[in-house]
Amino acid sequence: MKSARENLSRYMEIEEILNRFFELFDFCLKECVLPELARNNNQPFAACCKDKYYKVYDLEHPSFGLLREKREALYGTPEEIKESSLISPCEYHTSTGCVLTTCKSPICLAFMCRKSIDALRQNHGIYTYDYLGFNYALEWILTGDMSLPDYEEFRTSCLAMVQTLEEESKS
Ligand code: SF4
Ligand code: SF4
Repeated sequence: MKSARENLSRYMEIEEILNRFFELFDFCLKECVLPELARNNNQPFAACCKDKYYKVYDLEHPSFGLLREKREALYGTPEEIKESSLISPCEYHTSTGCVLTTCKSPICLAFMCRKSIDALRQNHGIYTYDYLGFNYALEWILTGDMSLPDYEEFRTSCLAMVQTLEEESKS
């Protein structure tokens, strides 16, 4: 059986790949946050961060505890975040979005709203992103319930999405 540390290390590996994917996709800031700030006179807004999602769906499991410890060591506890927007119930939400560049909870890392998924399909031909499916996959990686072959397959499919976006960005 894998240790919580090994599970967390796999989770962080997938988070790094997904962060690259979201960076290349570049949708939320450009197509949602900045246009909304322009419309509402730069007043911060919560977008999809309408709850303390860094914990509401977290499971009672040692690996989730380790993820939280690592997050708080890097970014501070929710109460310590001074730049909170005060618009979202989530303390990690600032006027320019989430302060957590790593160590997000599975639901926060996986979430894509309908319009962003539609854009991924229509503009990039990527149909493999199913946010609930990704959420559960991330949970299973963190708890160690995903087998090594399934993990490798999931990692390969994440890398394939990144590759698609990288190739597009070069053409
Ligand atoms: S996931 Fe959707 S609602 Fe949330 S910031 Fe991105 S575009 Fe906006
Ligand atoms: S932790 Fe970040 S992504 Fe999750 S709800 Fe808070 S601001 Fe949003």
